[in-house]
Amino acid sequence: MSSDDITSKRSRATRLVTRGRPSGDVSGPVNVPVTRTSTILHPDLATYDKKNAGYEAGKLNYGRIGTPTTWALEEAFADLEGGSGAVSYPSGLAAVSGVFMSFTKAGDHVLVGDNVYGPARRFAEDVLKRFGVDVEYFDPMLGGGVGDMIRSNTSMIFFESPGSHTFEVCDIPAIAEVARANGVITAVDNTWSGGYYLRPLSLGVDISFQAATKYVVAHSDAMLGLAATHDGLFAKLKETAVRFGTCAGTEECYLGLRGLRTMDVRMPRHFETGLKLAEWLQSRPEVKTVLHPALPSCPGHGIWKRDFTGASGLFGVILQDFDKETVRRMIDGLELFGLGDSWGGYESLLTPSRPAGIRTATKWPHTEPGLRIHAGLEAFDDLRDDLARGFDRLRQD
Ligand SMILES: *Cc1c(COP(=O)(O)O)cnc(C)c1O
Repeated sequence: MSSDDITSKRSRATRLVTRGRPSGDVSGPVNVPVTRTSTILHPDLATYDKKNAGYEAGKLNYGRIGTPTTWALEEAFADLEGGSGAVSYPSGLAAVSGVFMSFTKAGDHVLVGDNVYGPARRFAEDVLKRFGVDVEYFDPMLGGGVGDMIRSNTSMIFFESPGSHTFEVCDIPAIAEVARANGVITAVDNTWSGGYYLRPLSLGVDISFQAATKYVVAHSDAMLGLAATHDGLFAKLKETAVRFGTCAGTEECYLGLRGLRTMDVRMPRHFETGLKLAEWLQSRPEVKTVLHPALPSCPGHGIWKRDFTGASGLFGVILQDFDKETVRRMIDGLELFGLGDSWGGYESLLTPSRPAGIRTATKWPHTEPGLRIHAGLEAFDDLRDDLARGFDRLRQD
C-alpha cells in the first residue's frame, strides 16, 4: 500500500488533524507556517520560467496565486469535502461570486434556490443579470422537479441546503441527477454542515463551497471562503480566481487550518446543544414552530435523515405573534446570545430572521416574527436559562 492509500483509509478525525501538514521525516513546527509574501525569488531563469507556467499547488511564483499556507488549507479542505481539489477565497461571498463567474457567460440561464444566502442572491441580481445572465429562482423543495425548469441554455443550478434562514433541506441527489442528465453544473452552499455532516460531492454535486468564515475558522476572527470540486472543473475554478485576482490572505488560511484541526470535537457539541435547545424551544408556549432539520417539523426532515450525518448549531424559531417591541425586549436582555451576523464560531448568537421579503419563487408561510439561533459551545443549561429569561420578558406586559 502506498502512503497515500494509507492516509486516505484513515478516519476523518485523524485526517482533519493530519492533512495539509508536513508528513514523513521532518523536524520543524507542527503547523505549516504563514507565508507572508508577494514576491518569490528564483535561483535562475530556468526555475523562474518553470514556476511561472500554470497555477498548480507547489508552483510558488507569486503571493496572489497561492502560498504553501494556502495549499495546505486547500488540501485539507478538499479531503474533508471529498473533492480532488479546492480553491480558497478571501470570503464566503467571494467563493459564491467565484463559482458563479467560473461557469456562466452572457446568454446563459441559471437556476438559483429561492432560499439561498441573501448576498448570493443580490450578486445574481446585481452582477450576473448585468452581464447578460438570465437568473431564475426555484422552490428549494422541488427536488428533481427542477429538471422541468432546465432550458437549453441553462448552465448552472446554484442552491443551498438547508437554507440558513428557512432550513428547508433540498433533495440534493435528485437535483444533481437531473442536472447531470442535462449537462448542467451544480453548486451547493455547504456552509451549514461545515462539510462535516454532509459531503455534497458524494451525492453527485459538482462544486461544494462554504463560507469558511463560519465552522472552518470557527472563532469569529477571520473571513475566508473555500470551494471543493472534482478534476473536471478544478482548472476553470482556479483560473477564474486568478483572473479576478481574488486570493485568500495567508494569515486567514492559517486560521482556517487551525479551525479544521478541532472540527471533530466542536461539531458534535454544536449538534448536541443546538438540538437540545430546539427541543426545549418546541415545548414552549411562546413558540409556534422550530425549524431544525433534525426535527420532524422542519421541511425536508426526511431528506436530512437520509443524506446528513448530523446537524450544526444553527436553526430557526418562529415565535407566536408577538409585536416587534415585545420581541425587542426579549432580544435586548439576552446575556449569552450575542446579537450579530455570522455564526459557526464558538459563541452563541441570536438574530431576528425575516425571510418572507426575500423570496420570489415561493411564499414563506410564516408571518410571525422569526429568530435565528446559533448554539455555541457554552453549556446547554446556561443557554436555556438565558432564553427562558428572555421568554419571561416576552410575557411581561
Ligand atoms: C456567511 C455566509 C456566506 C458568506 O460568507 P462570508 O464569509 O460572510 O462572505 C455564504 N453563505 C452562507 C450560507 C453564509 O452563511
